[in-house]
Amino acid sequence: MEPVNIPVEPAKKRRIGVLTSGGDAPGMNGAVRAVVRMAIHSDCEAYAVYEGYEGLVNGGNMIRQLHWEDVRGWLSRGGTLIGSARCMTFRERAGRMKAAKNMILRGIDALVVCGGDGSLTGADVFRAEWPSLLSDLVAAGELTKEQVEPYTVLNIVGLVGSIDNDLSGTDATIGCYSSLTRICDAVDDVFDTAFSHQRGFVIEVMGRHCGWLALMSAISTGADWLFIPEMPPKEGWEDEMCAMITKNRKDRGKRRTIVIVAEGAQDRQLNKISSSKIKDILTDRLGLDTRTTVLGHTQRGGAACAYDRWLSTLQGVEAVKAVLEQTPQSPVPVITIRENKILRTPLMEAVKLTKDVTEKIQSKQFDAAMDMRDAEFKEYYDAYLNTATPDHPRLHLPEGKRMRIAIIHVGAPAGGMNPATRAAVAYCLTRGHTPLLFTMPISSVREVQWLESDSWVNEGGSDIGTNRSLPAEDMDGVAKCFDLYKFDALFVVGGFEAFTAVSQLRQAREKYNAFKIPLVVLPATISNNVPGTEYSLGSDTCLNTLIDFCDAIRQSASSSRRRVFVIETQGGKSGYIATTAGLAVGAVAVYIPEEGINIKMLSRDIDFLRDNFIRDKGANRAGKIILRNECASSTYTTQFVADMIKEEANGRFESRSAVPGHFQQGGKPSPMDRVRALRMAIKCMRHIESYAGQSRDAIANDPLSSAVIGVKGSQVLFSPMGGETGLEETETDWKRRRPKSEFWLELQDVVNTLSGRSASRTQE
Ligand code: ATP
Repeated sequence: MEPVNIPVEPAKKRRIGVLTSGGDAPGMNGAVRAVVRMAIHSDCEAYAVYEGYEGLVNGGNMIRQLHWEDVRGWLSRGGTLIGSARCMTFRERAGRMKAAKNMILRGIDALVVCGGDGSLTGADVFRAEWPSLLSDLVAAGELTKEQVEPYTVLNIVGLVGSIDNDLSGTDATIGCYSSLTRICDAVDDVFDTAFSHQRGFVIEVMGRHCGWLALMSAISTGADWLFIPEMPPKEGWEDEMCAMITKNRKDRGKRRTIVIVAEGAQDRQLNKISSSKIKDILTDRLGLDTRTTVLGHTQRGGAACAYDRWLSTLQGVEAVKAVLEQTPQSPVPVITIRENKILRTPLMEAVKLTKDVTEKIQSKQFDAAMDMRDAEFKEYYDAYLNTATPDHPRLHLPEGKRMRIAIIHVGAPAGGMNPATRAAVAYCLTRGHTPLLFTMPISSVREVQWLESDSWVNEGGSDIGTNRSLPAEDMDGVAKCFDLYKFDALFVVGGFEAFTAVSQLRQAREKYNAFKIPLVVLPATISNNVPGTEYSLGSDTCLNTLIDFCDAIRQSASSSRRRVFVIETQGGKSGYIATTAGLAVGAVAVYIPEEGINIKMLSRDIDFLRDNFIRDKGANRAGKIILRNECASSTYTTQFVADMIKEEANGRFESRSAVPGHFQQGGKPSPMDRVRALRMAIKCMRHIESYAGQSRDAIANDPLSSAVIGVKGSQVLFSPMGGETGLEETETDWKRRRPKSEFWLELQDVVNTLSGRSASRTQE
């Protein structure tokens, strides 16, 4: 065959292709947006390959260049705007040959693939075969040697887009938390009707081989029983399930029963356990009025939640960096996340591990399958079991090890405080400890029963009450109370005030023996400003509320189109919420206290806006967002900034201010805050438990006996409050009520890069 006569223009700039493949997942659009803009920012051209590998195989109009403005507004759109498909032809070498030819004809030498393990396997096969595909294309006369010569190396980077969270080696996949949000919204709604009629509900969620969605939704909704493919129930599970549900209803007074079942749930002989089978068991054996709800495709749809927008954006940026840094020798990386850290992992290692888990399940080696799952998954599973069956004498500690554990909320309410307290109470009851609730200033101390705390699983705010009182206001009285009620440990849930309270108690240990007990802080504040952690409970709930607010307000300008909204966020003297929300909504600028606001900055941003509106000709026009933290400047208030923009715009565009205020504290806690509340609270309880039986002096001498639990990079750690290396001394900016160094400050660069604001700054 004669070589085709299509002239290949020499690639002036590197061309990076991006495709979405397999099942769609919320957040895929955020990833494409980030890849496109980061590619352009890095002086490359970006090409979208439409309909997954189908577009690569068919070429032509299915591979199109995307410009900066083309991806405007994509962060808030569900599904994938460049389409996805399951492409059979790409599974064949002949299909991949066509794909290689199309890429070369379009001058594309790098590909970012966002999909599940199947799509990523396909990407790896493609890269491994690439040199031989090129020689076959030349041998077949489809391309000339000169045509293929500049493309001897294909750079591929994987992004995991999947609602199932089924890839090993990453804590989360793009889309999984959005899907979890959809499930929890549905189950929360079912709660009310189940409670009203004292019904049982069996809810089936997605997950053929992976029980992540089922497990996390069971944790987030306090389900009575859970079925996941990795850990089939033991023989006789029907009796055990019925006994447990009867106990919950009859002995403990629970009015509603929720059972969560993954679609791939099975017994130890690999027979499917269906939702209808479970329903029949509950109806026939217990006479329980039981309904089934199969959530189906609603789990895939809708806009991405805050976390998925954050994750897809940061991973998209990282994918472009990885493309540009790749060498011919480096293995294909997949971009992963461990706790709070974005990492690169060899793609085939992650895919192999994922497949190994499936094989172990299929060969009935369930413990091995569980062992091969990520440590976090196992930890969550254990935590669920520890709280789902409280008050089980079998799990009680011996008498001398049981503790009286005081639990208090300090500071402003935040999503996750209630679920954390519920988890702590359930854990205490499981292990035979006595959970005691109180508020500052100490007025009453009371024991709590499981049924009361169980209802906190999905409730916002603080049911036990919270305020800003600190122990220093009456240290004698606090010490007396600790002695009177014989507290063996204190668990404090709250923000900077909680941190301050524990610091005061720790410092008072010299004078008061009562405080020589484990004192542990679980950070919970929408401001996320507690030293010792990069994540506080409640911050995710707040972000979700804020992005809903911003999406709606931006949409309101889609008819007038030329409007800038200056939105004031909470956060005190920490710009975390403003910056992270800015990343998640694609704000044009974010004003934070750490940077302040000055006249030069405003003038430059108004020029940037003017330019932005001139270029704003695409179909995705809507309002633009500027986020201003409440303490960013005492002079340039939110209204002032909005007025100034309006004045300077000279009629070319207009501006409005908006203050969501306490709305940001959110209603129900987000699923992420719920599941992390459980995990962190149980870690805290275990930490406290490790001091059982020790003398007061021994406890006080251990720096970790007064500590903050927190996410630090890729780990969850306890950091000591006191001592030379303690948080109080080394990491706390007491005056500004925030950590001395804030990990998220570098996110400002990403916000500015992806809005084009940083380019406008360097052009000066
Ligand atoms: P999900 O998690 O939603 O199932 P996935 O990416 O695993 O997503 P698959 O249907 O397994 O979905 O794969 C998507 C596409 O990736 C396939 O239709 C095919 O085009 C390509 N693909 C999958 N496996 C391979 C393979 N071994 N070789 C080549 N291409 C593959």
